[in-house]
Amino acid sequence: MAGEPEADCLFCKIVAGEVPATVVRETATTVAFQDINPQAPCHVLIIPKAHHRDAAALVAADPALAADVLREAGHVAADQKVDGSGYRVVFNTGTGAGQTVFHAHAHVLGGRGLEWPPG
Ligand code: IMP
Repeated sequence: MAGEPEADCLFCKIVAGEVPATVVRETATTVAFQDINPQAPCHVLIIPKAHHRDAAALVAADPALAADVLREAGHVAADQKVDGSGYRVVFNTGTGAGQTVFHAHAHVLGGRGLEWPPG
C-alpha cells in the first residue's frame, strides 16, 4: 500500500536504521543523508520516511509530504553552504531518467559548477 514500508527497499531500510547512512538532517517526515557515490562536493539525498516509488507517486498520494521534501532541500543547501553559489534539486523519475532506487528521493547537488543540460 502507498506509504507503507517495503521489505526489499534500501531507503526504507535506511529509515528503519537497518542500513547505515550519514544522516545530515531529519524531520518527523523526512531524512536527508549523504549520497554513497557523490557526484559533487555537496550531494545529499532527501527522502520521505513513507515509501512512494518515485516523485510522481509521492506528489499524487501526499502533496504535503512532497512539499516537506522540497522544503528540506533548501535547508540542506543552507546547512551545506551551497545556497549562495547555487545548487540543483533533481528527482530522477523512471529508469530512463536514471532512477535506480525506487523510493522517492531528491538529490541536492552543489559546490561546483553544474552544466546544463545534464547528461
Ligand atoms: P537514483 O539513481 O536517482 O535512483 O539515485 C539513487 C542514489 O542513491 C544514487 O546516487 C546512489 O549513489 C545512492 N545510493 C545507493 N545506495 C546508497 C546507500 O546505501 N546510501 C546512500 N546513497 C546510496
